This record gives sequence, C-alpha cells and structure tokens, in this order.
Amino acid sequence: MYLSRQIQLLASWFALIATNGFSDEALDPSSARLKKDIYFLASDECEGRGVTTKGIHIAADYIAAEFKKAGLIPPAGQKDYFQPFTIKGQAKLGEVNTLRFIGPDGNVRELKLGKDFTVTGLSSAGKLNAPVVFVGFGISAPDQQFDEYAGLDVAGKVVVVLRQVPRANDKKNPFPNAEKYAPLIEKLAAAEKRKAAAIIFVNDQDKAGKTDDLINFNLLVGAGAGDIPALHIKRAVLSDLLQSTEQVSLDEIEKQINEQNKPQSRELKGIKAELEVNITRADVAAKNVIGVLEGNGPLANETVVIGAHYDHLGYGERGSLAKLKEKAIHNGADDNASGTTALLELARRFAAIKDRQGRRIVFMAFSGEELGLLGSRHYTKNPLYKLEDTVAMLNLDMVGRLSRDEKTGKDKLQVLGVGSSKSFEPLVTKLNEKYDFQLKIIRNMSDGAGGSDHQSFYNAKVPVIFLFTGLHPQYHRPTDKADLINIAGLKKVTDYAEEIAMSLTLMSPRPALEKVSTVAGGTPTKIPRIGVGFDYGDESKKGALVETVSDGGPAAKAGIKSGDYIVEVDGRPVRDLTSYMSAIGAAKRGQPIDMVVDRSGKRINLKVQPE
Ligand SMILES: [Zn+2]
Repeated sequence: MYLSRQIQLLASWFALIATNGFSDEALDPSSARLKKDIYFLASDECEGRGVTTKGIHIAADYIAAEFKKAGLIPPAGQKDYFQPFTIKGQAKLGEVNTLRFIGPDGNVRELKLGKDFTVTGLSSAGKLNAPVVFVGFGISAPDQQFDEYAGLDVAGKVVVVLRQVPRANDKKNPFPNAEKYAPLIEKLAAAEKRKAAAIIFVNDQDKAGKTDDLINFNLLVGAGAGDIPALHIKRAVLSDLLQSTEQVSLDEIEKQINEQNKPQSRELKGIKAELEVNITRADVAAKNVIGVLEGNGPLANETVVIGAHYDHLGYGERGSLAKLKEKAIHNGADDNASGTTALLELARRFAAIKDRQGRRIVFMAFSGEELGLLGSRHYTKNPLYKLEDTVAMLNLDMVGRLSRDEKTGKDKLQVLGVGSSKSFEPLVTKLNEKYDFQLKIIRNMSDGAGGSDHQSFYNAKVPVIFLFTGLHPQYHRPTDKADLINIAGLKKVTDYAEEIAMSLTLMSPRPALEKVSTVAGGTPTKIPRIGVGFDYGDESKKGALVETVSDGGPAAKAGIKSGDYIVEVDGRPVRDLTSYMSAIGAAKRGQPIDMVVDRSGKRINLKVQPE
C-alpha cells in the first residue's frame, strides 16, 4: 500500500499493538499453495521486491510462471506476460563529488567524501562557489515567532542547517509541530524558496549521538529530488568553521538556540564553499505481470480486472517506517505478497472452471505501487483491454493479517471503494452471509490508509472494490514477514474474493459507476478534506497535480480544476504530494485555507473551505 504522510501518522499509532502468531495445522491443498507462494514472494531471495532489485524480477518470473501453469494466456498480441514501463528518478551518485571550504586568508579545507561529508539522495547535480550562511535548524515558523531566516539574505549562498528541530529530545518543552519542520525535504524547500544555491545538513546533537553518522544516500533516494545540491557534513567541520569565524563552537550555538528559543543564524564571514555534485537519475525498467482468461457467452467482450501489487520497499530506501541505520530487506509479506498470493490462487481456481461463462478476467500484478501507484497508472493510461469495456476492478492489497474482533469474535475485513457502484454494497453484504466477516464497509477509496491500485482504475471510471485486512505494527517495516501471515485467514479472504469476482464476471447489467470522494474519509487524522484526487505519478515538482475534483466538494466550490497544480497552501510552498500533505496537515480544521494554484503557468489565488 502506497505510503502517504497521512498513513505515516496513522501507522505510528499502531506501534504498541501486539500481533498473534498462528499455529500451523495440516493444510488443505489451497492453503498449502497460498503458503508456498507467500513464503517465496516474501523470501530474502526476492529482496523485498524493490523496483531496483533483481529480486523483483525473480518475483515477476515466478508470477508469470504460475499464471502459465494455471492456464492463463498472455495479453492479446503478446508472447509474454509482461507489460513493461519505466520508472524515473532513481538517483545514482556520479564519479566526482567534492566539497571544500575556503577561508578568508585563502586556506583551503578539503573534505573527504564518505568521511567528512556525503551527498544526500535529495540532491541535484551542481557546481558552485558561494558564501556560507549558518541558519540554525533551517526553520521558518513565524506563527511561533521562530524564524531562523528572518533578516537573512541567502540568495545564491550555501545554507548550513541542523537536522530535526530545537530540543528534539526534550519531552517537557518540545518544539511545536516538529513533524512539520523536521523533515529534510521541508528544510530543503525552505532554502529553495529563499533561492539558496545549496543546502548542507548537519546532525543536531540528538541525531549525532556519539558517532555523528552521515546520512545514507540510499535512504533518501527517490524521496523527492531537490533543485539544488544537498549535502551532509560532520559536526566537527561546522564547529571548526564557527570557531574560526565566530569564536563559538557548534555545541554552544546549539545550546543557545535550544535554551533561549532564539535564532542564532549568521553568515560565516569570509568563508566560501566550493562544491561539485554529480548525480544522475537513471530510468528503472519495471513491469506489470498480466495473465488472461478469456470469457464466454454474451459478456465475453467485457473485462473484469483482479489486481494486486507485487512490488514492495526493497531495502527500505524509500517509504520505510523503520528507523533504519542501514539497509534491511523489507520482505513485505502482508504488503503485498499476500494480495499477490491470493491473485495467483484466484487465477488457478478460475482457470480450472470448465467452460466458464461470463466476462474475460484479466489478472494483474502491478509494480511501482509503493512509489505512487505507478504500474496501475501505467496500465490505465496504456490499457491492453478497452477501459470502457472494463466493468469492474477488484483490488487485493494487504489481505494476509486477518484478525478477530475481541468483542464479537468475528474476523475483521475492510471493503473499500464500494461507493463506486450502487450494486456493490448489496453484493459484498450478501456474499458475506456465508463468511460472517465483520465487514467495515467504506464507500470511498480509502480510509486514511494510503491509496492502492484501485484508485487508478476508479480515476479511469472503472468501479472498484478493494479488500484489506488492516494496518499492523509491522507495516512498511522489515518485520512484515511471512511467519506472521494468517494463512487460514488469507484463504478465507481468497474464498470471499473468488465469490465477489465470480459475481462481477456475471452481473448483468454491468455495475454502473457512481461518483465517490477519492479523498480519505472517516479517518482519525486531522487532515482537512478538500475533495480532490491527485496524480500520484507526476514528478514535475511543480506542485501537487490535481487529477480529479469531486463534484460539489470544497475544491470544486473554490474553483480548483483538474490539471491545476496546487503550489501553495496557507503560505507554505508545495512542490509535490508529500509537501502538500504536510502543508494541508498543518492547516486548521474547519477554517478556510488560502491556496495558490498554477493553471497553465498562471498563478491563481483561491480560498478553500474544507469539509
Ligand atoms: Zn505498502
């Protein structure tokens, strides 16, 4: 499941929830197959199915082989089961990366890459020689009378900022809204907004601990590239610079900021930084895996899609919720080897039905979901079967952790997106009589959890149903492993999904599309809803690209249109969806929000009254 800022907040609340193991009784053939598939897909051999790993291709080959074994055919006109596409933006460090500081008397301090400094994965390439300004924690929070940029001109200069926020470890006197100001990407945006030429991060005392480790380049790759070079130096380097120009150590200056809550920003007089960063963002070859069972009878020309993403976080370079000191395989057993496993089993079961009547079923294992629904978006932009004849999409993402409600004793299952067609709620309710799940029916696309691939189909006007067994403490962490999967539960969800899918292939008339909010609803988060759906694949960094606008919703009322880039929220710059989430998250609920949108190059000011 795609990680949004929203889900990060949500997931952190699950940190204390315990999970039970499940005893391994003698398995029926179906459960045995499910178990075999999920243990393979979530094995270390598949390397967490990160899009840049070899492991994801091993997983893709496995899925294709199982499709073939089951009797599925490749998509029309193709020899294999793959739909290739390209993911952009994975950064790679080039050969020459240098940083040196030149003092007033011309003395040069040359820094060693990997020892004294590193390039972060947020960096752009660049070569420059510019004055250096220390900007504390790089925070501009006028609402808290704390603006470290106040009175400073950093245009064309190199800003040096501490990580996190003042008093990061002080529970009694915390810095307000730390989550808003601490992210490196926010500090980068603040520096870019003021036209800084480059940014250099330094661990604050809390992050530094005893070892003052440099940021792992790979942990930030893909987190959203900046337009300026972004480096990281050791505390000792900055402390020397401060000593030589200001006769004060970094420890002292940091202490002053923390204790007096007063900015201590200053230009380091006479110091210049000379740097060269070479970084390339190479294309990554990705592929969806697609197998087909042709239909029979009068509905044979129509299509039902059953989908599950098979990619996950690889080594946790991006999207991990674990505090990683070094890379670790994120096996993604529940997310989403579980859905992929159910998909394979459904393929086998449907393929085994002799003279099956009804619509064509297209089984899709998507890649690039964790990076923003990239595979499913690629499919809906380049469909292999006509989207207007695609009557429904059933999505399976995180269906391996079925658990019981303590009070009712029933298995809890979430069914999302059912508002996308009026026929769906009666259908899933009726079919549930036999299974007696405690269904949580969510009519909109998501429940504060990040989205998943059904969103791409809904955006392409295909009605959707999404099954989900819920978040857990291992979500997006290396601990999401196969031994925590409830195999019996996975089978039960697969059985239920089979009946839903069967109905979708036969239902006549076809389910009619209803408009529903694509924005999370009923969530415990405080993020205001404005009634828009975003283009998750947009990488222009021009803002948050609006893809859909809910009729009569707050955004529609304010005049926001599909194709607009939201570039500012309450004065905070928005460069992409991540910074939009953090900006909108900071807005006060119920109060009008000032937004600036870019419509074909024209900036338009709007007032949005959120729900
Ligand atoms: Zn996920």
